[in-house]
Amino acid sequence: MSEQTQEKSTDESANGSPKPTSPNADLKLDFASFWEYSEAPESSDHVEITERYDHFINGDFVKPAKGRYMKSVNPATEEVFTEFAEGTSEDVDSAVRAARRAYEKKWSRLSGKERGKYLFRLARMIQERSRELAITESMDGGKPIRESRDVDVPLAAAHFFYYAGWADKLNYAFPGRTPEPVGVCGQIIPWNFPLLMLAWKIAPALATGNTVVLKPAETTPVTALKFAEICLDAGLPDGVVNIITGAGLTGAEIVNHPDVDKIAFTGSTEVGKIIQRSLAGSEKKYTLELGGKGPNIVFEDAPIDQAVEGIVNAIFFNQGHVCCAGSRLLVQEGVAGRLITKLKERMETLIVGNPLDKNTDIGAINSKSQYDRINNYLEIGVNEGAEIYQSSNTIPEKGFFCRPTLFTGVSQSNRIVQEEIFGPVLTIQTFRTPDEAVEKANNTPYGLASGIWTDKGSKIFKIGRQVRSGVIWSNTFNKFDPTSPFGGYKESGIGSEGGLHGLHPYVKLK
Ligand code: ADP
Repeated sequence: MSEQTQEKSTDESANGSPKPTSPNADLKLDFASFWEYSEAPESSDHVEITERYDHFINGDFVKPAKGRYMKSVNPATEEVFTEFAEGTSEDVDSAVRAARRAYEKKWSRLSGKERGKYLFRLARMIQERSRELAITESMDGGKPIRESRDVDVPLAAAHFFYYAGWADKLNYAFPGRTPEPVGVCGQIIPWNFPLLMLAWKIAPALATGNTVVLKPAETTPVTALKFAEICLDAGLPDGVVNIITGAGLTGAEIVNHPDVDKIAFTGSTEVGKIIQRSLAGSEKKYTLELGGKGPNIVFEDAPIDQAVEGIVNAIFFNQGHVCCAGSRLLVQEGVAGRLITKLKERMETLIVGNPLDKNTDIGAINSKSQYDRINNYLEIGVNEGAEIYQSSNTIPEKGFFCRPTLFTGVSQSNRIVQEEIFGPVLTIQTFRTPDEAVEKANNTPYGLASGIWTDKGSKIFKIGRQVRSGVIWSNTFNKFDPTSPFGGYKESGIGSEGGLHGLHPYVKLK
């Protein structure tokens, strides 16, 4: 129900004489039970998933040296999706050697124009296989097909297109300097945007003449291995891209390999700190894109209905598995009651369920361990004295699903306010003055992304300057573009990815 409609009906009942203006005026719009959506699942039978995937080293699929495999589970069904190789030091070493050979003999010697052609080809081939990639992403990781189809895959292609454009223009990117590639890059990515994070890492590395050894996360390895097939189909020279699968130990082998020149990591702050410690004193360059606890600040003069949509997008997009999620709502006192009521109404309409269903708004939690972690935080919140509200939507019995949740009555020192939950869980605090909003916004160890909702442009600029975040969205949230740099303050990381800034970590400037 729109704000206008609601306010009008309140006025009418206030003067005691409700006058229906249309035949449906008496109809109470109860969206939760009024709209019954028929199931609309995306068919997956044309997508080929093999029973087992090997590493991709030097242009070939190669069995793991120790012969061990791990399982990837479809979090919506709890069934094994596929098996994939567990990388050991031997596997990482062969991949690094292949990357070094490709770097020295081929890739760093190609002209930027030629490298660009390969990148354009990779971008187009991602587009050609977009449906397959989107379905695979949703089955392997649990995200709604609407998101993998409309966000993850198109943005992954867009990153390749964007950095393809830079490949032959690097001298213009760094006027007066001569950029040279760094060498072999070790890249470790998380499970929340598997293919997209691969694109963020591989596209700028290749455009600048580096070769890579990339490790996808252990719960979502499949789109990276499909990307390996794309590299083969694109005729990319052997060894330019190598994909090693496995868990944290495999990642550590890449970080600690002596012949890797640069590490790019996206993941938790906890692991980021371990990596930073291991790299201290080495000559390896590194970028770390870590956690967040983004404040989403709504002022009294904000358009409330739009803000509600923005809040929903900020915290429930991708089940809240988003490092830049707006997981802390800060709302000005005067509108808090009205906004929370509207937010709860909106949460009732969100469909939690089958990730492959095109109606689904919130898919499955990525893994059992993440599901347990979120539930643990829900308990912590309740034990801390906060008031929990969860939508009443039905959720599937099987699979790892979590209802959209919010906590009110929280204080700044609560763990659920300070720590990254990485799930569909929002904490709500109020504020009276802009200064109080800024103070609360900045009072966590993180500084990745924020939202500001207000009708006043001047307020956006003033508050935007005071909030310590790498990204600030105003009157919107979660907008991504390959031309725009992304990175954080404080414990949210070091270095930027995306845009012109995203080229820097992959070059030495002479
Ligand atoms: P999360 O806690 O959200 O699962 P992680 O930071 O643990 O995220 O994982 C992100 C990526 O880092 C994954 O690919 C994971 O396998 C890898 N990883 C985990 N531990 C280490 C480590 N000690 N060194 C290098 N990579 C690691």
